[in-house]
Amino acid sequence: MDAEASPRSITGHLRGALNAARGVWAHTARLALDIALPTLCVACREPVDGEGVCAECWAKLSFIAPPFCPRLGIPFVYDPGPELLSMEAIANPPAYARARAAVRYDDVARTLVHALKYQDRTDLAPAMGRWMARAGQELLGEADILVPVPLHWRRGWSRRYNQSGALARIISRQSGVKLASEALRRVRATEQQIGLSRSQRASNVQGAFKVASDRSADIAGRRVILVDDVLTTGATVDACARALLRAKAAAVDVLVFARVVDTHKAPI
Ligand SMILES: [Zn+2]
Repeated sequence: MDAEASPRSITGHLRGALNAARGVWAHTARLALDIALPTLCVACREPVDGEGVCAECWAKLSFIAPPFCPRLGIPFVYDPGPELLSMEAIANPPAYARARAAVRYDDVARTLVHALKYQDRTDLAPAMGRWMARAGQELLGEADILVPVPLHWRRGWSRRYNQSGALARIISRQSGVKLASEALRRVRATEQQIGLSRSQRASNVQGAFKVASDRSADIAGRRVILVDDVLTTGATVDACARALLRAKAAAVDVLVFARVVDTHKAPI
């Protein structure tokens, strides 16, 4: 009599199984979403909507604003007047023309840089890139092309993600300045710069970069902005700038997310 009972109960079972599977799937999808979206502040792990850092950590980031050295972008404690250079720029003039950074390299900045670099937090790149585009507004207005510093070579490190390339892509989208990702190549393996002195850093990266011969047309006669995540002594960007100038770049500027500012040294 109840001919439909059996198929119905089968349907019921199926539906139950499907719902259970959906539950597991939804749970997995939610987990995936939690990983994909920055729901926790990357610096302090407090919940946050949107941008990767909470308002409190954002306030702790030291955004670099004028007055600063027109060449190196190092902030001055007081305004020495226009065009007056820092001692560092006079004592150690770089190969590049000007450098600008969004923030000082402090605890919060370091957390962001490390999360982007080592924890694949690619979701941080848009905010960091936008801050960089703002800091580099003057340079970007005069630039023809953006070139990211090629991937740092690390022994035993299989990471292929180039954080400088990710930041440069955002800056390009933000400013409309074209990107030449593959123009600069690392032609020689280098030791890690960490723990090396200024002169060791310089000789470590000397001759390590070259403009690819099939990309020289992207560089010759162009005003280039080199993009990197952190500027410490500037040895890496200096070596890159030399390679770009050898390939007849009209000018080379540097735009980084964070720069080390030696607070012990008086600006002038
Ligand atoms: Zn926070």
